[in-house]
Amino acid sequence: MKDKCAVVTGGNRGIGRAIAIKLAKEGARLIINYRSDEEGALETLRMIEELGGKAHIFKADVSKFNEALELINYSKEKFNGVDILVNNAGITKDGLILRMKEEDFDKVIEVNLKGTFNCIKHAVPVMLKKKEGIILNISSVSGVMGNVGQCNYSASKAGIIGLTKSLAKELGGKNIRINAIAPGFINTDMTKVLSDEVKESIRKATALKKFGEPEDIAETAAFLCSKRSGYITGQVISVDGGMAI
Ligand code: NAD
Repeated sequence: MKDKCAVVTGGNRGIGRAIAIKLAKEGARLIINYRSDEEGALETLRMIEELGGKAHIFKADVSKFNEALELINYSKEKFNGVDILVNNAGITKDGLILRMKEEDFDKVIEVNLKGTFNCIKHAVPVMLKKKEGIILNISSVSGVMGNVGQCNYSASKAGIIGLTKSLAKELGGKNIRINAIAPGFINTDMTKVLSDEVKESIRKATALKKFGEPEDIAETAAFLCSKRSGYITGQVISVDGGMAI
């Protein structure tokens, strides 16, 4: 990935931070996107610089079409383009259908699915110009299997899978690859709010009987964002300890 430029959305913490650091270790220059947590983004930046890497941070809400454009434009300005786009930003607003508010459904779709579309929409013209590009979307085991209390989140993550497969067919002939990772239960701020009871039932349903770490996702992300996966496109790789078997 030497001298490639990678944009990672939601790079201020969790899986996004681990992916940004891993790509930097492999030689990529990073644009670390964040929505509001500037301190977290600066911490990711500091960690990359400590490794001798190059990075910048950029504030943008990816669910806003124009802010996604500003993010991609910033990458063009700083690093002359976007070679790798990692759509990692995501939120949950869980609830059973009887209690789920319309705005909770809309918001999750807006950030997770529309946000992914927004960034891709603006990055693809840049990649077409360069005649190459790699896109990685972070889906979820919930998008593959469904999950009680997550109809909004599961729909957004299943939507990401359809989007990934369609665009792989659309852009493959233009030397742009696009894949997705479907993580299982990963130890981050997103999952730490779950009750011990829920966590235990998930652990039991996982073949490896343990949770994953952000670095587990980053390993696969680095593979999918490198030439090592040059003949892989349109795929959804489960990194879930054997939850969705
Ligand atoms: P997290 O909550 O720590 O990270 C989510 C990141 O997205 C944060 O950095 C947040 O600031 C950012 N974000 C949210 N809304 C945004 C917006 N509108 N614009 C820009 N950035 C925004 O959780 P995580 O576990 O690190 O999640 C990262 C991705 O992995 C998400 O897409 C999540 O759905 C997915 N995922 C996580 C798990 C898990 O078990 N942790 C499992 C499957 C999928």
